Amino acid sequence: MPAFRAWAATNTRAQRQKGYSMAFVTLPRGDITAEQMEALALLVETHGNGTLRTTQDQNLLLRWVRTEELPAVHRELERIDLGHAEAGRLLDPTSCPGAESCKIAVTGSRELALAVKETLTEQAGNGGKDLIAAASDLRIKISGCPNSCGQHHVAGIGFHGAAKHVGPRAVPAYQMFLGGAVDGDGAHFGRRSVKIPSRRVPEAVTRLLALFRDERQPDESALAFFKRVELERVNSALSDLASFSEQDLHEEDFSDLGTDQPFIVELGEGECAT
Ligand code: SF4
Repeated sequence: MPAFRAWAATNTRAQRQKGYSMAFVTLPRGDITAEQMEALALLVETHGNGTLRTTQDQNLLLRWVRTEELPAVHRELERIDLGHAEAGRLLDPTSCPGAESCKIAVTGSRELALAVKETLTEQAGNGGKDLIAAASDLRIKISGCPNSCGQHHVAGIGFHGAAKHVGPRAVPAYQMFLGGAVDGDGAHFGRRSVKIPSRRVPEAVTRLLALFRDERQPDESALAFFKRVELERVNSALSDLASFSEQDLHEEDFSDLGTDQPFIVELGEGECAT
């Protein structure tokens, strides 16, 4: 039952109709297999209204679930490896397709989403659970180029892929934005912060959370903190990670996450922007 309680706390909401709930299905990086889709089709026929909705953060939503049937829904989701909690929160970063399939991409945004999720999950398991929970309102969104299909511009921590030339070679990197969000007043763009080599971004996220832990005001949310914190303070905390000087770069910085091949920028026609 602890797994069900954790899932229910983050992935379910009561509907306005008494006795009914909605349940989010967390899809890491938006991926789902054919077998999982077939099982979900049966699940919504049995426990929902026969439909599934996609969400902006790459998850799925079941509606019209009888609240007393939520444990059965979660058991079935666990059986098909879709019973993960944390939908739409800090531990659920989203990304566009990036260099995996988009010809206009600069970097592999999906690989970064995976690396950030793994780093934060490990941190939560190593005594950082309370900090991760305290920052759960923060969304991390990643795009493989400035076009922002990953919606990095409206994320608490957003990144878009970039390249930085150092001598004759190129370093894959991410431009970081802080404090963006979408709320009842509309969209609020994040503030442009530093550019960081790709492989150092997970460490940068860890340091941002430490900054939030150490310098937040009482009861201040993570999003509120990153809306107000001085960019100079952030830049100072990340200055070594954001250095592109030749003496600070390691050989691995010249390849993108998920590959050991030298990084080169090859742009073609994009799948969502031409
Ligand atoms: S064009 Fe869109 S999908 Fe392609 S890398 Fe850029 S943001 Fe991602």
